[in-house]
Amino acid sequence: MSEVKPVSQKLPDYGTRTDEIAIFAGPCSVESEEQFNEVAECIAGLGLHWIRGGAFKPRTNPHSFQGLGEEALQIMKAGGEKYGLKTLTEVMDSEHCEMVHSYVDGLQVGARNFQNFSLLKNIGKVTKDSHKMVLFKRGFAGTIAEWLAATDYITMAGNDNVVLCERGLRTFETATRFTLDISAVPVIHKQSLYPICVDVSHPAGVRDLVPALARAAVAVGADSIMIEVHPNPPAALSDGPQQLTPAQFTDLITDLRELAAVFGKKIV
Ligand code: PEP
Ligand code: MN
Repeated sequence: MSEVKPVSQKLPDYGTRTDEIAIFAGPCSVESEEQFNEVAECIAGLGLHWIRGGAFKPRTNPHSFQGLGEEALQIMKAGGEKYGLKTLTEVMDSEHCEMVHSYVDGLQVGARNFQNFSLLKNIGKVTKDSHKMVLFKRGFAGTIAEWLAATDYITMAGNDNVVLCERGLRTFETATRFTLDISAVPVIHKQSLYPICVDVSHPAGVRDLVPALARAAVAVGADSIMIEVHPNPPAALSDGPQQLTPAQFTDLITDLRELAAVFGKKIV
């Protein structure tokens, strides 16, 4: 394989390595205004700043729920404004970049699009002037060198407000949905100036593992943490088994705040 050479070294505008750990919580999929707003109310009540939610879902099976599309973006925009939260959602297709950009505060590149270079370029292009945050997830078979190199497709277009997101790798292990590469956090810190988020829900696959992984993320020095939350996980249209209820999420944030304080950090 040819050598992969990273990488931009400019500090991004958002999520730099400060004493704050941002939480990107919210439902896997936006399913209705009621569902989204119930989670938003919980997040805002905890004094957090961001809500995530899927509008276009990259489902393995084409017969699974694909997301509400633009209707979900409208729900997110209205709910975000109502509860004073910033919104984050995945862009799956180049043709949706501008539309998604017009509704939300942060754009996510999902693991399955890790090497969709035209999508990465287009996201860089649409966020060039707004400098909206781009949360770039690692592919589940991607090396860190490939990840950092691919990041340049976004930043070359003019937006270096990128947050990298570790979300677990495909390995021989089947006890978890994916194997969380917690080492990616110090390695990214050593090799780049980008902040790194740890998605603790998708590698866990089941909700009872989420708190331990979230504590690990705080302890290892993650700059942000992604956690899926649903008002009624058994009825969720995607990723039900791994989503926390608002009550479970509230308990976890209380725990994480105590732990973060040990490191002189704040959960926001
Ligand atoms: C998600 O965060 O909604 C998602 C689909 O995650 P991933 O791309 O990591 O599978
Ligand atoms: Mn999910």
